[in-house]
Amino acid sequence: MAVDSLRTHLVEELTDLLDAENQLTKALPKMAKAASSTQLKAAFTRHLAETRKQITRLDKALRALGERPRRKTCEAMEGLISEGDEMMNQTPAGALRDAVMITAAQKVEHYEMASYGCVRTYAMVLGEPGVARLLDQTLKEEKAADGKLTAIAERSVNEDAAEAWQAQDEEGMMSRGAEWVSSTFNAAARQLGRTTRRPARRSSKKR
Ligand code: FE
Ligand code: FE
Ligand code: ZN
Ligand code: FE
Repeated sequence: MAVDSLRTHLVEELTDLLDAENQLTKALPKMAKAASSTQLKAAFTRHLAETRKQITRLDKALRALGERPRRKTCEAMEGLISEGDEMMNQTPAGALRDAVMITAAQKVEHYEMASYGCVRTYAMVLGEPGVARLLDQTLKEEKAADGKLTAIAERSVNEDAAEAWQAQDEEGMMSRGAEWVSSTFNAAARQLGRTTRRPARRSSKKR
């Protein structure tokens, strides 16, 4: 459809959002399944229910504008979902993967917030307050979902993800420490050997 007016632009954007939300109804159950934190699981599941209501609102908005919902692919959402999926699949389950999924989900929420903010305003400007109200309801849900993800991340996931990393690093430090002790001990032993007896042979270990 050629965009020759703000009205056709609004219709195009609503059609695009309809596909974006439909894509999310397939992605969110996978994310809920992959989440380790029970809070994060619940947040994804709750947002799935909201997403279904948002689809109904988009349908209503398009019909109120005298349009029949058409099929269109939201390529931006395809990209956001496939990038998030790729990151998720590269990360072992646990707090770190939860953090990775929160990053991806917040990118999605911000895309939606930008989109719904625009279409709500266009509907207002075009004298469609009923449509604007529907879109504003969804905008509020997207903002709340984003805020919820921030709260979950700040309350637990980020710290756990950082701790998991730290534990790995401490393991690394311990083995480096053990290496240092043994090299110091060997050097001391060599020193002793030099004064009390001849070393049996040179260490073959290169330093
Ligand atoms: Fe949504
Ligand atoms: Fe889009
Ligand atoms: Zn799109
Ligand atoms: Fe959303």
